Amino acid sequence: MKCAICKAQATVYLKHSKLKLCDRHFKAYFLNQLRRAVEKYKLLTKGDRVAVAVSGGKDSASLLYALSSLYGDQCHLSALFIDLGINGYSEQAREVAERQCEQVGVKLKVVKLSEYGFTIDEAYRLRRLLRRPVCSICGMAKRYVLNSEALKDGAVKVATGHNLDDGLALILSNYASGNMSPLLKDLPISPSTDSKLVTRIKPLCYVYEYETALFSLKVGLPTLEQRCPYQAGATSIVLKESLRSVEDRLPGFMKGFVKGHVRLARLAASSRDLMLKKELSYCQVCGMPSSSKVCGFCKVKMRISEAKLQC
Ligand code: SF4
Ligand code: ZN
Ligand code: ZN
Repeated sequence: MKCAICKAQATVYLKHSKLKLCDRHFKAYFLNQLRRAVEKYKLLTKGDRVAVAVSGGKDSASLLYALSSLYGDQCHLSALFIDLGINGYSEQAREVAERQCEQVGVKLKVVKLSEYGFTIDEAYRLRRLLRRPVCSICGMAKRYVLNSEALKDGAVKVATGHNLDDGLALILSNYASGNMSPLLKDLPISPSTDSKLVTRIKPLCYVYEYETALFSLKVGLPTLEQRCPYQAGATSIVLKESLRSVEDRLPGFMKGFVKGHVRLARLAASSRDLMLKKELSYCQVCGMPSSSKVCGFCKVKMRISEAKLQC
């Protein structure tokens, strides 16, 4: 197997594009994928202060490394780790995230979700009362804290390591639950619609999960081996496994689907903006933008505090 570019020994075969590449050209290919997304969707502007969400995993580590290699001299990058309060897992995740940031040379800020009122362990214990899967609460909490911390630090963008597999799983679950608003917002860039909302970008949105795994390995980044104890049975995991077996038989299917969805969502962007303007008000508790009187984060926080008082 020879590299399609330099004819040296190929080490990677990318089935979706039938590309055989050596280590050097795979790294260049990966960086190029990211650069193309950044340019096509105007994800970054020179001088941007960007908070990169890191979790200790391979996706966010690859994102941090790639952004730093490509844009480290043009943007002010900083990393943000949220300690979710998952006993035995969050400690290890934090330790790996610290090593990743040290290796890449980006300053890391650690924030504890408990400082915001609860932990994911507590949300899991009270999942029946909250009537919401723990991963859904966790995702919402991460978005809330990232936005809040980015605002405090004066960041104009929050970059997350969501890859193509994550994106497609999210698109499908939103379709399945008829959740239209996130579907329209789920683009490589979710521009700020309020001074209290920081623009969110997903530069790895067209990169397969196995490519980020390979990249982190090839550039020698430490990554978290341990899995979150609440991951088993999560909708996104089930969907991603099923999608990969489709992709295996129909190479390129996942990428084609996401690209098609993004095109549709962008076509609907103007009506989305109108819709968001109409829907947005402010949470009566924390004052952050919300589509209801009390935002989802504050509702979960209040229910958890009430349950703790009753214990
Ligand atoms: Fe949070 Fe679920 Fe991911 Fe665990 S698996 S970190 S609970 S979203
Ligand atoms: Zn090569
Ligand atoms: Zn609130």
